[in-house]
Parts: sequence; C-alpha cells; structure tokens
Amino acid sequence: MNDSTIPSIDKDSGELFHFRPHKLALHLAIGYKRRKLYLIFARPYRTADTREITRLDQPTLYSRNLHCDQDTNALRFYFSPLAFTGWEKEGQSLLDYLLNLGPNRPKILKVITSAEDSAEGHPKGVPLVELLIPEHRMAHCCEGCEEWETMGSENEPRWIVTTKSREFPAYLCPKCHEKDWCGPKTSRVFCDFVCARFY
Ligand SMILES: [Zn+2]
Repeated sequence: MNDSTIPSIDKDSGELFHFRPHKLALHLAIGYKRRKLYLIFARPYRTADTREITRLDQPTLYSRNLHCDQDTNALRFYFSPLAFTGWEKEGQSLLDYLLNLGPNRPKILKVITSAEDSAEGHPKGVPLVELLIPEHRMAHCCEGCEEWETMGSENEPRWIVTTKSREFPAYLCPKCHEKDWCGPKTSRVFCDFVCARFY
C-alpha cells in the first residue's frame, strides 16, 4: 500500500487512540502502566478479566528500555521478542502483526533498528521501535487506583501528570490526585525505585 493512502493519527484530538486490527472484533490501544508499555483492550470487555493483553517492552532491558528521541520527542522502546497475543498468523511475530494492522489502518509503530541489525550498543535480537501514537492519545493507568482510561469517556483530561521526568511521566486520576498526600507519594516513589526494578 502506498504511504499516502494510510490514514494518519490525529494529533490534535484528545481522545484515547484505539485501533482494530483487520479481522479482529476488538478495539485495542497502547498504554503506560508504571513505566511499562502494554497492548491493552481499549474498553473493558466482559469476557476479559484484565485490560492488559501483553507487555510490549522488553522487561530485562528495564533501565534503558523506554526513551524519548531527542529530535522528535517520540517514545522509543525495545520491543519484547516474547510478546505474543495469539492473534498472529503462524510464524508471525507480534511486532509484524502490529506493523501490518490491515487496509486503512493507521501506522502505530516504526522500526528504528530491526532485530537483525547489529548497531553499536544495540541488544542482539531485540528490535528498537518508535511509537507513532502521541503520548496524550495513549492509555494511562492511574498509579493510585490502577484504573485504565476508558474509551469514550475522555471529553476532558482525566489524567494528571504528577511527576515529569523527561522519559517517564507518572499519572494519577483527579480523584487520586486530590488525595495525593505524603503517604501515597512515598509509596509510589518506593514502588518506582524498588519494586519496578524487580519485575
Ligand atoms: Zn486513580
């Protein structure tokens, strides 16, 4: 398909960006949860007991996994070669599945360094990819109540950035933000610096 026929992601919209791969009846989104990146269901489905489908970033590369490209500010991450949903065709990786969502589907990922490339400092067998979904259109999990944003309810910004280090913003919903006093802050900081590293 010609690039000009691929619809682009509307960066001006404030709504959660969701997509439906060809031949799949479910709406999906990409979301942040405690500095990890997940493929999630864009809305709660009664048959699914969790919103998360699979983690996308490579867990063992935690310390240098997610980072922003300095020129474009786009999020880049090492795509886990073990990430899998069950919707892939035989022999297809999840990355290939997400790169080819089907006709008239927008591009959500761009490969920067493929798994076969051996660029300097690049871990072998792990592709580096760039997320084409702007951060404000990704799903965010509240670090207080662990609720995900829900599709269709986003007429006003629900999520509040509480700490903004360049690469890893943390999110709280307004309800949790109101109660974000010393105790919750301390436990969040503890989780970020200790628990998250032992994933
Ligand atoms: Zn909350």
